[in-house]
Amino acid sequence: MRRQSRFCSAIPGGVAMGMLGTDQFDAELDFDIGRKYNVLGLGTACPTIFDEDTDMVAVARNIARFFSHESCGQCTPCREGSQWVYKLLCRIEQGDARTKDLDLTQEIATTMGAMPGTTICGLADGTNWAVRTILNKFRGEFESRVRPTFVPVTASVGASAKG
Ligand code: SF4
Repeated sequence: MRRQSRFCSAIPGGVAMGMLGTDQFDAELDFDIGRKYNVLGLGTACPTIFDEDTDMVAVARNIARFFSHESCGQCTPCREGSQWVYKLLCRIEQGDARTKDLDLTQEIATTMGAMPGTTICGLADGTNWAVRTILNKFRGEFESRVRPTFVPVTASVGASAKG
């Protein structure tokens, strides 16, 4: 990591596997990683590391943008769910959301693709695991954005929240 900065998070192997929390820096890259660290699995076993300067709200928004863009639109939970999650995360990032928006984001992200047979492929599950593991493991960062006293700052992760 840059300048010996501290670990913040990691994608163990493909963002659809979900994200590791800050206290999971020593997770073993083996086939038990899903069971032990509340991610979907090992995936590609090619980790992406985030340091302490990373804005995890912006990361979640950028990941949701990717999945909503990649949805082919055949299945309602994936087509609508990924768009809703992306729009809600944009609002949270910009400081325009409240706690009920954060709770709604969590509810959608946790349920989309979870019911077998409601989607054709695994993209909805991927959105689910990616977004909800960030929400669960970095909840404090999201809560600070929905406080009325929050003053928005410029994000540097991926495309603009307004894009
Ligand atoms: S779950 Fe797969 S098939 Fe269904 S809309 Fe999403 S990308 Fe398309």
